[in-house]
Amino acid sequence: MLGLMQDQPLLISSLIEFAERHHGGGQIVSRRVEGDVHRYTYVDAARRARQVANALASLDLGFGDRVATLAWNGYRHFELYFGVSGSGRVLHTINPRLHPDQIAWIVNHAEDRVLCFDLSFLPLVQAIHGQCPGLKHYIALCAAEQLPADSGVPGLCSYEAWMGARDDRYVWPRFDENTASSLCYTSGTTGNPKGALYSHRSTLLHAYGAALPDAMGLSARDAVLPVVPMFHVNAWGIPYAACLTGAKLVFPGPALDGRSVFELLEAEQVTYAAGVPTVWQMLLAHMKPAGLRFSSLKRTVIGGSACPPAMIQAFRDDYGVEVLHAWGMTEMSPLGTVCTLKNKHQALDDAGQMQVRLKQGRAIFGVDMKIVDDDGGELPWDGQTFGNLLVRGPWVIREYFKGEGGDPLQDGWFPTGDVATIDAEGYMQITDRSKDVIKSGGEWISSIDVENLAVAHPAVAMAACIGVPHPKWDERPIVMVTLKPGATLTREELLAFYQGKIAKWQIPDDVLFVDTIPLGATGKILKTLLRNNLKNYRLPGL
Ligand code: AMP
Repeated sequence: MLGLMQDQPLLISSLIEFAERHHGGGQIVSRRVEGDVHRYTYVDAARRARQVANALASLDLGFGDRVATLAWNGYRHFELYFGVSGSGRVLHTINPRLHPDQIAWIVNHAEDRVLCFDLSFLPLVQAIHGQCPGLKHYIALCAAEQLPADSGVPGLCSYEAWMGARDDRYVWPRFDENTASSLCYTSGTTGNPKGALYSHRSTLLHAYGAALPDAMGLSARDAVLPVVPMFHVNAWGIPYAACLTGAKLVFPGPALDGRSVFELLEAEQVTYAAGVPTVWQMLLAHMKPAGLRFSSLKRTVIGGSACPPAMIQAFRDDYGVEVLHAWGMTEMSPLGTVCTLKNKHQALDDAGQMQVRLKQGRAIFGVDMKIVDDDGGELPWDGQTFGNLLVRGPWVIREYFKGEGGDPLQDGWFPTGDVATIDAEGYMQITDRSKDVIKSGGEWISSIDVENLAVAHPAVAMAACIGVPHPKWDERPIVMVTLKPGATLTREELLAFYQGKIAKWQIPDDVLFVDTIPLGATGKILKTLLRNNLKNYRLPGL
């Protein structure tokens, strides 16, 4: 017997409709590429998203056709999120930090028909358009008068001219909730990038899950600033979750340096921010020497790479901000776990709570996870045993776009490529990416642990630990560090700092002082490049 409830498809258009109707006056504030700050409301955004849908209808696009963006976080990008997906097309957000050849490859693989881009990416578009014959329409996200006269990009028009004069009445179509809504390619450190193709249903379920109190915990009283880009897994779903809760949205545009982010946080009285550790490192580096304080920020969700305990501590002790350590991946829309305490942890002292907080957290309802050995046997949740982390759920991919890379699943579970422990309370902690874990004398060393300890030293700004070949032990860890401005540190001092904090055999064999540590397009340390650069490196004494 079937239930007798209404069969309403879960569609992205319903999010902007809801925000317009129930939080119409809610603000959306954007720092623009032009440098100024733009502000309007959910009512304005919904109206313009409908104009976008009407403008798309004039472009001779089919249902499911891909509309690509190369854009920062801002209100026009936000309108495209709803105008494109809501009208049944697929929004393909491209990471502009990728190499131009890789971007051209992605555009062609996705068969993008339209490319909407911020003017700051014009040189990039000029470089690739000749390689992308399938792109039929180029739209610059600017006003008509800002459009460059001789761009060399065929048929380039301005977004405002293209959509501004359209009718703002539009009835969002109803269709199967499993219809594709947006597309995001993985960073692809090895091989070609692969596309994660989200659906309306997966996006809405993820938005519900993300908004839960023990997940992101967003509400109508929050002002949210996603520093995490809208081109990286839909800014972790924040634009959708904000519509669902009515939170104020604050978009930083291209200005992601510490000073700009701090000024916007303060000017807009932001209560909630989200980003990768490297962004927060820039923010804290700006604030500390100037003795600056937050007047409104309460919580910040940090993920994408392991958040060092020193950062969680600095936010809490120096600034009174709660860090929510989160883990996820492009293939998971992206949220998998968020670290919030349970009732029983309230009684722990500071050090005890910190032991919990630095884990990547517990699964959000909707994500099922387990750890397995190399034969697929499930491992215990004892907080000690580590194994390959597998996940499944309605917002986890079943396969990649166009079947790229074959069937990724193992008995219906998606292998994340991460190695982790899970404790008896269900808190998961990432040991490493499986390809980054260091195998020394038959034991595993977590590069994340070695890095976290290095950045706990007051002189160290950033650290990267990799394994290098060793004739006896197979591999040994070495750590590369950058120092804070004006700080000094010797190899011996840093090695001594490790004593007593981790097992002797886990202490790195060498310290290399470097000017910069290379980061990939999504802010993660490029360990493949580091390993490659150090091909001829020899450990001391060998
Ligand atoms: P991406 O698909 O580019 O977002 O990368 C996903 C990968 O980033 C995961 O599989 C992890 O290896 C890593 N990652 C994400 N969040 C965390 C975290 N909080 N701690 C450690 N690694 C993380």
